[in-house]
Order: sequence, then structure tokens, then C-alpha cells
Amino acid sequence: MARYDLLLKNGTVVDPASAREGLLDLAVADGKIAAVAPDLDPTQAGEVFDVAGQYVLPGFVDLHVHASAWLGGKPSHKMLAAAGVTTALDMSGPLDSVLAIAKDHGAGLNLATITYVRPGHTVRDEDPSAGELESLLAQVLAAGSLGFKLLGGHYPLTPAATARAIATANRHKAYIAFHAGSKRHGSNIDGFLEAVALAEGNSLHLAHINSYCRGLKRDYMAETEEAIAALVANPRIRSESYLSPINGTSAKCSDGLPESLVTRRCLQTGGFAATEAGMEEAILAGWARINVEAGGQMVLGVGPEAAAFWRSRGTDTTVGFSVNPPEPRLRLATAKRPDGSFVVDAISTDGGGIPRNVIAAMGLSLVKLQALTLAEFVRKTSYNPAQILGLVNKGHFRAGADADITVVDLERQQPVMAIANGRVAMHRGYVCGRGCTLITTAAGAAAVKKAGLAPLVVDLARGSFYPA
Ligand SMILES: [Zn+2]
Repeated sequence: MARYDLLLKNGTVVDPASAREGLLDLAVADGKIAAVAPDLDPTQAGEVFDVAGQYVLPGFVDLHVHASAWLGGKPSHKMLAAAGVTTALDMSGPLDSVLAIAKDHGAGLNLATITYVRPGHTVRDEDPSAGELESLLAQVLAAGSLGFKLLGGHYPLTPAATARAIATANRHKAYIAFHAGSKRHGSNIDGFLEAVALAEGNSLHLAHINSYCRGLKRDYMAETEEAIAALVANPRIRSESYLSPINGTSAKCSDGLPESLVTRRCLQTGGFAATEAGMEEAILAGWARINVEAGGQMVLGVGPEAAAFWRSRGTDTTVGFSVNPPEPRLRLATAKRPDGSFVVDAISTDGGGIPRNVIAAMGLSLVKLQALTLAEFVRKTSYNPAQILGLVNKGHFRAGADADITVVDLERQQPVMAIANGRVAMHRGYVCGRGCTLITTAAGAAAVKKAGLAPLVVDLARGSFYPA
């Protein structure tokens, strides 16, 4: 009998949590890290991969993706695996759709999901009461969700209801993430600063910090420094930023207008009317890039074909606009606090089924620029986000850690291999993983099993989201 199920030979292992970096072999047994040492015996392994010249990193944990029929769609898991991601947080639900897609189109990854608090959808109106939020939270936790997502930038609540939702999640030590914006402020730096205030010292995940630093209110670098100062002053706020120039939002229109406020603003930024007709013009002109399903994945489409696809879906598609300038993305990815830790905890993508899963493709540019060391890259793409999700056995290669591994080719800035829970999910672009491990709380484990998925139970109070 083989001692190891899988052995990666001759790679450079980078594991900052163990202060380990060097030419080392890594062995996996029973879904766990079994050994990290030089010259492990290949005859002791069921399967051996020579990864000479490549880097063996703790698996990418993407703290912001979309993997539901609403945003992302069926190809989400395949696209994540192809990008080297082994664990991800779906940032909106709806939960039933996330579970169904994970079951039928999973690629062997770990996935958590949170549920949107959206007027007319999950709550009655824009000012839900504490009681309504309490019962919604109990309901979504029991169904397998980790907590709430507030979509303020798109579908805002009142400031008071926003604060109530954050406090409700904190009382139950549930997850709470927020795309800043309320009935008072939009998705911009002022909305971000309002969000920090509405947290009232509670734990909160503020999503895609770069998206509030696009120069809508002040110079975009001034906005970036304001965001950094607020995060430094509010250490209970967890955050991520992404590196792609392209955002992602809903293209759905009703009564001649885009439903999302972000979408309306992006149309105006490109010089188009914030209407359904303006959207069509923007697609034809190449400013609005419709997420089109092609060849088993989502791609960015413009021109008449993309406009026809958008029409064929009754306008209910995802759309991206090139609205993120480069300097804020760079600064937010690398900024540090006085104690040396990162201001923004993680590099995310806001990808999944939205085609911008660029942790390796763009994140490794920062390593080549020497803006991040490889060890720092691992902290931002694996260790920090794993701890935020309470995944104490992920983000590192300590003895007994989950065997979640991403092998990258630094020269080509590409993932070569994704291994999740000891099984190969992707090798050289070919996605071979199946199924999905659903990260949930104790309250949701039964529902996850009932949905046909394997639950991985976390206690957020053990992670860095709710520090002791
Ligand atoms: Zn998102």
C-alpha cells in the first residue's frame, strides 16, 4: 500500500505560516498534508507529479466570487478551478441556486456562500426591522449560508437598516459582507466611509475596496488614501480588493432603466445615457461588455452578437465596464499597516463565473515587480482569507492541514495545478474535479447534506473575522 496518495516533487514550496520556503517535496495522504521535506521517496506514492521549476503554494482562497444562476452561472466552478482557486466565497447567493450549481457543476472545490439582503427579494422593503433581519438570518443559516451580503451599492437599504443588519449578524457571529452604499450614499468613497461608520465597531467584510476609489468624488488616489486610513483606524473591518480593470454588475433593465445603480453610473462614466437604450448603445460601442456563455465558460462580449445575447436573456445578464484605474489597484494590493500586516487582507477577484479570475495572471505581476514577495502573495491569496472564513486548516502546509494546493508557473503567471482536499481539480488547464465541499456553520450542515453536498463546518468565532 502506498504511504502517500499524491506526491509533488522538486517544486519550490512557499508556506509563510510555517516560515518555510525552498526546494521541497510535498506529500498528501487522506486529503491532508502528510509531509513537506526534501527528497521524499516516489515509490511510496500512488501518484507523482514532477513540478520542477514551479511554485507549490497553499491553495488560492478567493474571498469574493459569484457562483449562482443570478451572477456567474454554471461555468463558475470550472472557471475557478482553471484559475487555480481551491476555495471561494460566493458573495450574494441566492443560496438554492448556489447549492444546485455546486452539486451539478462542481469542480471539486470548497465553496461558502452568503445571502443578499435585498428589498423586494429577501426583505420586504429598504428598511427591514430588527425582527425581520433576525428571522431572515436564522432562515439562511439553517439553509447552509454563512450569513448576509448587503448589496448597498446596487440595491440599497436605509443607513439605519444597514447598521441593524450588521449588528444582527454580529450578535450571532454570522458572516456579514457589504458592498458599500445606502439610501444616503452611493457606491463610492463617501458610501465606503459611511459603511465604516455604520459598522459601529462591529466585525464587517467590506467588499472590493478598489471599487470605491474610481475618482467619482475626489482624485482617485486621494480616495485610495482615505480608504486606507479608515481601514487602519478600524481593525475589525476585514476587506479584499481585486486587480482586474473590469467590474461586474447586472445588465438587467426594467421600465427602460438598468435596475442597478452601479450599472447606471458606469453607463454615464462611459458617456452613455443611464437607460436601457443607453445600455444597448454601450454594448454596440464596446464600452459595456456582456458576459456571454461560450465554450463552457463565460467570456466578455461586445458588438451586435453580445447585444443579441443580452436581448435573448430579457436583459438579465452580467455586464462589465473598464472602470478601475491601475494605481489604486496596486496601492490597495500592497499597502501595509504600521505593524507590517496588510491593510487590505486579501487579493480577491469578484470573479467565479464573471470572467476575471486573475489572482495568478495579475497577482503574480506584483511578485515580479517586487511589490509583494511570494510569501506575502500567499498571505493575501490564501492564509489571510482562509483565517477570515474560520478555515483554520487551510492557507498553510502545517502537519494535518487540508491538502489544498495551487501550483503556479511564475514565469508565465499561470496556475498549473489546483488540488483541493487531496484531489486534483485542475492540471494544466484541464478541469477534472467533481462535486463540491460546502463551507457552512453547524446550523446549516443538515441542509447542505440534504442538498447532496459534503458540508465543511466552520465556527467563525475561531477565525479572524471575530477576533477574541
Ligand atoms: Zn461581487
